[in-house]
Amino acid sequence: MAGESYEDAIAALSKLLSEKASLGDVAAAKIKQLTAELDAAGSKPFNPDERIRTGFAHFKNEKFQKNPELYDELAKGQSPKFMVFACSDSRVCPSHVLNFQPGEAFVVRNIASMVPPYDKTKYAGAGAAIEYAVLHLKVENIVVIGHSCCGGIKGLMSIPDDGTTASDFIEQWVQICTPAKSKVKAEANNLGFSEQCTNCEKATVNVSLGNLLTYPFVRDAVVKKTLALKGAHYDFVKGTFELWDLDFKISPSVSV
Ligand SMILES: [Zn+2]
Repeated sequence: MAGESYEDAIAALSKLLSEKASLGDVAAAKIKQLTAELDAAGSKPFNPDERIRTGFAHFKNEKFQKNPELYDELAKGQSPKFMVFACSDSRVCPSHVLNFQPGEAFVVRNIASMVPPYDKTKYAGAGAAIEYAVLHLKVENIVVIGHSCCGGIKGLMSIPDDGTTASDFIEQWVQICTPAKSKVKAEANNLGFSEQCTNCEKATVNVSLGNLLTYPFVRDAVVKKTLALKGAHYDFVKGTFELWDLDFKISPSVSV
Protein backbone atom coordinates (compact mmCIF):
# COMPACT_ATOMS: atom_id res chain seq x y z
CA MET A 1 0.00 0.00 0.00
CA ALA A 2 3.02 2.28 0.39
CA GLY A 3 2.72 5.29 -1.84
CA GLU A 4 -0.90 4.54 -2.67
CA SER A 5 -3.43 7.16 -1.66
CA TYR A 6 -6.53 6.46 0.35
CA GLU A 7 -8.64 7.64 -2.62
CA ASP A 8 -6.92 5.18 -4.98
CA ALA A 9 -7.52 2.32 -2.55
CA ILE A 10 -11.22 3.17 -2.21
CA ALA A 11 -11.57 3.53 -5.98
CA ALA A 12 -9.98 0.10 -6.52
CA LEU A 13 -12.33 -1.44 -3.96
CA SER A 14 -15.39 0.19 -5.58
CA LYS A 15 -14.29 -1.06 -8.99
CA LEU A 16 -13.83 -4.59 -7.68
CA LEU A 17 -17.23 -4.60 -5.97
CA SER A 18 -18.93 -3.22 -9.09
CA GLU A 19 -17.48 -6.11 -11.08
CA LYS A 20 -17.99 -8.80 -8.43
CA ALA A 21 -21.10 -7.92 -6.46
CA SER A 22 -20.95 -11.29 -4.68
CA LEU A 23 -17.98 -10.02 -2.64
CA GLY A 24 -20.14 -7.32 -1.06
CA ASP A 25 -20.87 -9.16 2.19
CA VAL A 26 -17.23 -10.21 2.71
CA ALA A 27 -16.05 -6.66 2.00
CA ALA A 28 -18.56 -5.19 4.44
CA ALA A 29 -17.34 -7.50 7.24
CA LYS A 30 -13.69 -6.71 6.54
CA ILE A 31 -14.31 -2.96 6.42
CA LYS A 32 -16.14 -3.15 9.75
CA GLN A 33 -13.16 -4.99 11.28
CA LEU A 34 -10.69 -2.50 9.81
CA THR A 35 -12.73 0.42 11.14
CA ALA A 36 -12.70 -1.09 14.63
CA GLU A 37 -8.94 -1.69 14.44
CA LEU A 38 -8.18 1.86 13.27
CA ASP A 39 -10.45 3.27 15.96
CA ALA A 40 -8.69 1.23 18.66
CA ALA A 41 -5.21 2.13 17.37
CA GLY A 42 -6.06 5.81 17.15
CA SER A 43 -7.61 6.16 20.57
CA LYS A 44 -5.41 3.87 22.65
CA PRO A 45 -3.10 5.93 24.85
CA PHE A 46 0.52 4.84 25.04
CA ASN A 47 1.01 2.51 27.98
CA PRO A 48 4.67 2.35 29.07
CA ASP A 49 4.15 -0.67 31.35
CA GLU A 50 2.45 -2.56 28.56
CA ARG A 51 5.26 -1.64 26.14
CA ILE A 52 7.86 -2.97 28.58
CA ARG A 53 5.89 -6.17 29.26
CA THR A 54 5.34 -6.95 25.58
CA GLY A 55 8.97 -6.07 24.81
CA PHE A 56 10.25 -8.51 27.40
CA ALA A 57 7.77 -11.19 26.32
CA HIS A 58 9.09 -10.85 22.77
CA PHE A 59 12.70 -11.16 23.95
CA LYS A 60 11.89 -14.16 26.14
CA ASN A 61 10.03 -16.03 23.39
CA GLU A 62 12.28 -15.15 20.49
CA LYS A 63 15.74 -15.04 22.12
CA PHE A 64 15.94 -16.39 25.65
CA GLN A 65 13.96 -19.56 25.15
CA LYS A 66 15.44 -20.25 21.73
CA ASN A 67 19.08 -20.06 22.91
CA PRO A 68 19.29 -22.10 26.13
CA GLU A 69 23.00 -22.92 25.57
CA LEU A 70 23.92 -19.23 25.36
CA TYR A 71 21.95 -18.25 28.45
CA ASP A 72 23.24 -21.26 30.43
CA GLU A 73 26.77 -20.13 29.58
CA LEU A 74 26.04 -16.51 30.52
CA ALA A 75 24.61 -17.64 33.87
CA LYS A 76 28.15 -18.76 34.77
CA GLY A 77 29.80 -15.43 33.91
CA GLN A 78 30.78 -13.02 31.19
CA SER A 79 33.95 -12.61 29.14
CA PRO A 80 33.18 -9.96 26.55
CA LYS A 81 35.86 -9.17 23.98
CA PHE A 82 34.70 -5.56 23.69
CA MET A 83 34.19 -2.58 25.92
CA VAL A 84 32.13 -0.01 24.03
CA PHE A 85 31.53 3.68 24.65
CA ALA A 86 28.42 4.87 22.82
CA CYS A 87 26.19 7.91 23.05
CA SER A 88 22.96 7.72 25.07
CA ASP A 89 21.09 8.82 21.91
CA SER A 90 18.15 6.46 21.34
CA ARG A 91 19.14 5.95 17.70
CA VAL A 92 22.60 4.51 18.20
CA CYS A 93 22.29 1.45 20.43
CA PRO A 94 25.51 -0.51 19.70
CA SER A 95 23.81 -3.86 20.28
CA HIS A 96 21.47 -3.06 17.41
CA VAL A 97 23.94 -1.35 15.11
CA LEU A 98 26.73 -3.94 15.54
CA ASN A 99 24.53 -6.94 16.31
CA PHE A 100 26.23 -7.57 19.65
CA GLN A 101 24.62 -10.51 21.43
CA PRO A 102 24.37 -10.77 25.23
CA GLY A 103 27.84 -11.39 26.63
CA GLU A 104 29.71 -9.78 23.73
CA ALA A 105 30.10 -6.14 24.75
CA PHE A 106 30.52 -4.31 28.06
CA VAL A 107 28.84 -0.99 27.30
CA VAL A 108 29.00 2.51 28.74
CA ARG A 109 26.62 5.04 27.27
CA ASN A 110 26.71 8.73 28.08
CA ILE A 111 26.17 12.11 26.44
CA ALA A 112 28.25 12.17 23.22
CA SER A 113 30.07 8.89 24.09
CA MET A 114 32.93 10.71 25.83
CA VAL A 115 35.69 9.13 27.89
CA PRO A 116 36.81 11.54 30.62
CA PRO A 117 40.46 11.59 31.74
CA TYR A 118 41.57 9.67 34.83
CA ASP A 119 40.12 11.51 37.84
CA LYS A 120 39.16 9.60 40.98
CA THR A 121 36.70 12.14 42.30
CA LYS A 122 35.23 13.85 39.24
CA TYR A 123 34.75 10.84 37.00
CA ALA A 124 34.50 7.83 39.29
CA GLY A 125 31.60 6.36 37.27
CA ALA A 126 33.55 6.15 34.04
CA GLY A 127 36.73 5.11 35.86
CA ALA A 128 34.98 2.22 37.64
CA ALA A 129 33.62 0.87 34.36
CA ILE A 130 37.00 1.09 32.62
CA GLU A 131 38.81 -0.47 35.59
CA TYR A 132 36.32 -3.34 35.75
CA ALA A 133 36.43 -3.96 32.00
CA VAL A 134 40.21 -3.89 31.71
CA LEU A 135 41.40 -5.43 34.98
CA HIS A 136 38.61 -7.92 35.75
CA LEU A 137 36.93 -8.78 32.46
CA LYS A 138 40.18 -8.33 30.54
CA VAL A 139 38.45 -7.04 27.41
CA GLU A 140 40.68 -7.10 24.35
CA ASN A 141 39.25 -4.02 22.65
CA ILE A 142 37.82 -0.68 23.70
CA VAL A 143 35.77 0.97 20.97
CA VAL A 144 34.59 4.58 21.24
CA ILE A 145 31.75 5.27 18.82
CA GLY A 146 30.71 8.78 17.80
CA HIS A 147 27.67 9.33 15.62
CA SER A 148 25.93 11.65 13.14
CA CYS A 149 23.60 14.43 14.34
CA CYS A 150 24.93 14.15 17.91
CA GLY A 151 23.16 16.65 20.16
CA GLY A 152 25.97 16.53 22.72
CA ILE A 153 28.49 17.58 20.08
CA LYS A 154 26.21 20.39 18.89
CA GLY A 155 26.06 21.47 22.52
CA LEU A 156 29.86 21.48 22.80
CA MET A 157 30.27 23.40 19.53
CA SER A 158 27.64 25.94 20.67
CA ILE A 159 29.30 26.94 23.93
CA PRO A 160 30.26 30.61 23.46
CA ASP A 161 33.92 31.56 23.46
CA ASP A 162 33.55 33.32 26.81
CA GLY A 163 32.62 29.93 28.29
CA THR A 164 29.15 30.98 29.52
CA THR A 165 27.04 27.92 30.22
CA ALA A 166 23.33 27.60 30.95
CA SER A 167 22.84 23.94 31.87
CA ASP A 168 23.43 22.24 35.22
CA PHE A 169 25.48 19.34 33.84
CA ILE A 170 25.46 18.96 30.05
CA GLU A 171 27.92 21.66 29.04
CA GLN A 172 30.32 20.84 31.83
CA TRP A 173 30.28 17.20 30.73
CA VAL A 174 30.81 17.80 27.01
CA GLN A 175 33.69 20.19 27.73
CA ILE A 176 35.71 17.02 28.41
CA CYS A 177 36.30 17.19 24.66
CA THR A 178 37.05 20.89 24.35
CA PRO A 179 40.40 20.02 22.67
CA ALA A 180 38.39 18.48 19.81
CA LYS A 181 36.31 21.62 19.45
CA SER A 182 39.46 23.78 19.40
CA LYS A 183 41.00 21.54 16.71
CA VAL A 184 37.90 21.77 14.51
CA LYS A 185 37.60 25.54 14.98
CA ALA A 186 41.26 25.95 14.05
CA GLU A 187 41.27 23.60 11.05
CA ALA A 188 37.75 23.86 9.64
CA ASN A 189 36.52 27.33 10.49
CA ASN A 190 35.54 27.84 6.85
CA LEU A 191 32.97 25.03 7.00
CA GLY A 192 29.33 25.44 7.94
CA PHE A 193 28.18 24.65 11.49
CA SER A 194 26.80 21.19 10.71
CA GLU A 195 29.98 20.12 8.89
CA GLN A 196 32.05 21.40 11.78
CA CYS A 197 29.88 19.30 14.09
CA THR A 198 30.48 16.21 11.93
CA ASN A 199 34.24 16.82 12.11
CA CYS A 200 33.94 17.34 15.85
CA GLU A 201 31.99 14.06 16.25
CA LYS A 202 35.11 12.26 14.97
CA ALA A 203 37.67 14.50 16.69
CA THR A 204 36.04 13.89 20.09
CA VAL A 205 36.45 10.16 19.58
CA ASN A 206 40.20 10.72 19.21
CA VAL A 207 40.30 12.89 22.34
CA SER A 208 38.51 10.07 24.19
CA LEU A 209 41.06 7.53 22.91
CA GLY A 210 43.80 9.80 24.22
CA ASN A 211 41.98 10.12 27.55
CA LEU A 212 41.82 6.32 27.83
CA LEU A 213 45.62 6.32 27.91
CA THR A 214 45.56 8.45 31.10
CA TYR A 215 44.32 5.34 32.96
CA PRO A 216 47.50 3.49 34.01
CA PHE A 217 45.92 0.02 33.61
CA VAL A 218 44.76 0.92 30.10
CA ARG A 219 48.19 2.21 29.14
CA ASP A 220 49.86 -0.93 30.53
CA ALA A 221 47.53 -3.25 28.61
CA VAL A 222 47.99 -1.27 25.38
CA VAL A 223 51.79 -1.41 25.77
CA LYS A 224 51.59 -5.17 26.40
CA LYS A 225 49.34 -5.44 23.32
CA THR A 226 46.63 -7.26 25.26
CA LEU A 227 44.29 -4.33 24.62
CA ALA A 228 43.52 -2.42 21.41
CA LEU A 229 41.86 0.99 21.32
CA LYS A 230 39.60 1.76 18.38
CA GLY A 231 37.63 4.78 17.25
CA ALA A 232 34.47 4.67 15.18
CA HIS A 233 31.79 6.91 13.70
CA TYR A 234 28.30 5.68 12.92
CA ASP A 235 26.33 7.78 10.44
CA PHE A 236 22.66 6.84 10.59
CA VAL A 237 21.75 9.28 7.83
CA LYS A 238 24.09 7.72 5.27
CA GLY A 239 24.05 4.24 6.82
CA THR A 240 27.85 4.03 7.17
CA PHE A 241 30.24 2.95 9.89
CA GLU A 242 33.90 4.06 9.97
CA LEU A 243 36.40 2.26 12.15
CA TRP A 244 39.97 3.27 12.94
CA ASP A 245 42.77 2.30 15.29
CA LEU A 246 44.43 4.35 17.99
CA ASP A 247 47.20 5.36 15.59
CA PHE A 248 44.50 7.37 13.81
CA LYS A 249 44.90 5.61 10.48
CA ILE A 250 41.41 5.61 9.06
CA SER A 251 40.39 2.20 7.80
CA PRO A 252 38.17 2.00 4.71
CA SER A 253 34.61 2.98 5.51
CA VAL A 254 32.31 0.02 5.91
CA SER A 255 28.85 0.68 4.56
CA VAL A 256 26.03 -1.12 6.24
ZN1 LIG B 1 25.00 11.69 20.62
